[in-house]
Amino acid sequence: MLQSKIFAKLAKEDPKDEQSLNARLLSRAGFIEKAMAGVYNFLPLGSRVLHKIENIIRQEMDAFGSEILMPSLQPKENWEQTGRWKEFDVLFRLKSMHAFEYALGPTHEEIVTPLAKKAIMSYRDLPVAVYQIQTKFRDELRAKSGLLRGREFRMKDLYSFHASQDDLEKYYSEVQRAYSRIFERLGLRAILTEASGGSFAKYSHEFQVVLPSGEDEIFICEKCGLAKNKEIFSSPETEKCSNCGQTSWKRENASEIGNIFRLGTKFSSAFNVKFLDSEGKEQLVVMGCYGMGTTRLMGVIAEMHNDENGLIWPQNVAPFEYHIVPLFSKDADLRKKIEAAAWKIFSTLQKQGIEVLLDDRDESPGVKFKDADLIGIPKRVVLSEKTVEKDEVEIKGRAESKAGNMKISDFLKHAAG
Ligand SMILES: [Zn+2]
Repeated sequence: MLQSKIFAKLAKEDPKDEQSLNARLLSRAGFIEKAMAGVYNFLPLGSRVLHKIENIIRQEMDAFGSEILMPSLQPKENWEQTGRWKEFDVLFRLKSMHAFEYALGPTHEEIVTPLAKKAIMSYRDLPVAVYQIQTKFRDELRAKSGLLRGREFRMKDLYSFHASQDDLEKYYSEVQRAYSRIFERLGLRAILTEASGGSFAKYSHEFQVVLPSGEDEIFICEKCGLAKNKEIFSSPETEKCSNCGQTSWKRENASEIGNIFRLGTKFSSAFNVKFLDSEGKEQLVVMGCYGMGTTRLMGVIAEMHNDENGLIWPQNVAPFEYHIVPLFSKDADLRKKIEAAAWKIFSTLQKQGIEVLLDDRDESPGVKFKDADLIGIPKRVVLSEKTVEKDEVEIKGRAESKAGNMKISDFLKHAAG
């Protein structure tokens, strides 16, 4: 991709109306643009990162269920059937011109459960699971945390259906392990945290990342590393770790990047979803649900991976692998030479399927380097008068202070792996 096409102008200063670190970093570098509080446009750079995050999640989730797509616009009747039309505090409730009412989905139990009723008849249909990656809505009073808490956001949600609690438990533990793998691939250290089970179960599990700006408070067991959310924590003096039994805790601010719930039969009983067991008896289906906010993940990664000059993307989710930065000479012949070498590298890498951004703009070296730091692509390839005379490029890692030179032909071989 050419940098002249990123559909954004990079900002010298933080946007005045953004308080959160993630929104400041991502807006300045042209990844997102605020449409209104809690609602963002994802520009070409941001959209690429989001797709990478979602594809990593997809690769791990395909082993657990089939991908589907459910509607955002949901019938009020379904929400009344579970009692959540009134109970769900941040539910967006819409009134149409024709006096009908709808919910804008913050979650999809009210849709997936009646859907499952049509697919599940007998124990032979179980276990079964479906997931989606989709836009969700929450009618938040305040939305000041950038991508960490939006009114409109994207999420992966997986729903599983089982013949017994035992079967749910087995599946639940496997999803828990898959979640850890996903966060590792995204460059995040996630802490397994016990949290309230709401009205569904005794407790649920969250995956939390320690972050000064995080909205949650967690207490981490200093011996085994398991954490507890403040909402279910009594006091550091009396609380015992449910895993190792000790009582020494460390308090941290954190941001939740995933949660997994045992729903039991709460929703299957609301929609009367039953199956015939092996003895021909009718039983309620046992359910689990597993969420992961993909736009929030992008915000958390931005908050974790940066320095005073801008973003530093982990390789797996970076918008591009290489950033080619030609510094154009005032000398017309040299400029031609630099340009030709830059385009050659660009097209050679692209042909090999390597993702690369070329700074084709007529800007000064100072502006180009500053913008490259802001955007945070892991590897930078600089071409200047000095390097092209020797048929070389200068290679520098975004997180490293030292740079090294390499012959262009060697670099192309190296990049191709
Ligand atoms: Zn412990």
